[in-house]
Amino acid sequence: MSTSYDVIVIGCGGIGSAATYWLSRAGAAVLAIEQFALGHERGESQDHSRIVRLAYHAPAYTALTRHTFSAWRTIEEESGLQLVVRTGGLDLELVDGAPRYLNHYAAAMATAAIPFETLSAAEVMARWPQFQLPESVEALYQADAGLVDARRANAAHIALARARGATIRTGTPVRAVCPVPGGIEVATDEHTYRAERLVITAGPWSNRVLQNIGLRLPLTITQEQVTYFQPTDLRAFAPERFPIWIWHGDARDCFYGLPVYGEVAIKAGQDVGGDVVTADTRTFEPNPRADADLRRFLGRYLPGALGLELYTRTCLYTLTPDRDFVIDTVPGHPQISLAVGAGHAFKFAGLIGRILSQLALDGHSAYPIAAFRLDRPALTDPSYQPAFMV
Ligand SMILES: Cc1cc2nc3c(=O)[nH]c(=O)nc-3n(C[C@H](O)[C@H](O)[C@H](O)COP(=O)(O)OP(=O)(O)OC[C@H]3O[C@@H](n4cnc5c(N)ncnc54)[C@H](O)[C@@H]3O)c2cc1C
Repeated sequence: MSTSYDVIVIGCGGIGSAATYWLSRAGAAVLAIEQFALGHERGESQDHSRIVRLAYHAPAYTALTRHTFSAWRTIEEESGLQLVVRTGGLDLELVDGAPRYLNHYAAAMATAAIPFETLSAAEVMARWPQFQLPESVEALYQADAGLVDARRANAAHIALARARGATIRTGTPVRAVCPVPGGIEVATDEHTYRAERLVITAGPWSNRVLQNIGLRLPLTITQEQVTYFQPTDLRAFAPERFPIWIWHGDARDCFYGLPVYGEVAIKAGQDVGGDVVTADTRTFEPNPRADADLRRFLGRYLPGALGLELYTRTCLYTLTPDRDFVIDTVPGHPQISLAVGAGHAFKFAGLIGRILSQLALDGHSAYPIAAFRLDRPALTDPSYQPAFMV
């Protein structure tokens, strides 16, 4: 068994699986190490679906969103599997005076020449009578939005990487990483592996992995949840008739949902609705406060969606203080690259995997990722005030 590779990837969640694929596609000898089983439920990337969309709140993201669709298309073409289901996407806000969120979305989409429609509450309800909205709601509709099948996408990335020769070690926690001349050593309970480059995609465990190289990021881990509700009128919530949607508001007033997919049920959740935890202290118990908030919201604005609850599934967010990603090489250790998803990265997983492969193999990426640097104030200034709602 070889203990020497070109690149080692720590973590096989959505981003690490994609990085492993893109590295193997570039011809590198890759070892990916995952502490649990593939597809496990303890991280951030499990479940049937994640929202994917061109629409975003800032130009740093709208400069990338088209590339996310291309990255998924590459995997769909190579695997022959459908991963993305297009439904269209609505961003909604209860506006008091001027919008506080939708204006950022509209500006960021305009910057990137992403077409969108501005809709009144009445126009939304005329097209999607599933919504019951007061007049003060405004909306943006963008057609290139939908869902990506998360579980399938992760498995496809890993299967394609394996087919290109990547080695995947599961049930193998990395205990230490140690920069050495010309590369990096990665210690597990059984072996110490060596590589020229290291990619860290450890999600909520990022700081534990980084402590070996003296880096600590101001990350907040929250326990989030999504609930599958079975509507009485299933047909009204089929992906051909019902878009993905995001309701923008301040803390405890941001919600999102997806049409029927994966289960015979719609999926909905509250964004940043959970408690602060660690990867060790988290539970798998639904949070009754978030559950009550979501039910109140659906009952008021999407009453037909609030059907029989099938189940609630918990999941973790790894939040940066500005809610922006980290995608960078580690200062002082250019052989180590790192990504942190800030609780909204699954849609970008394929693309971030590709970017990480470029950082690892070329030392830089062709994609515009300056906003996601490790040396920005949100990550380096201890007085930076976290703001998670974007
Ligand atoms: C409820 C919920 C809904 C979401 N909805 C969306 C959405 O609609 N759209 C969207 O774009 N994003 C969404 N996100 C966010 C998105 O899912 C995450 O940003 C993304 O999955 C992060 O992936 P990751 O690979 O960084 O992390 P993870 O999936 O957590 O992967 C990290 C992996 O590293 C492994 N690991 C850690 N430490 C070690 C070690 N020492 N040794 C070996 N392995 C290790 C872990 O076991 C884990 O498998 C949602 C997240 C949640 C929780």
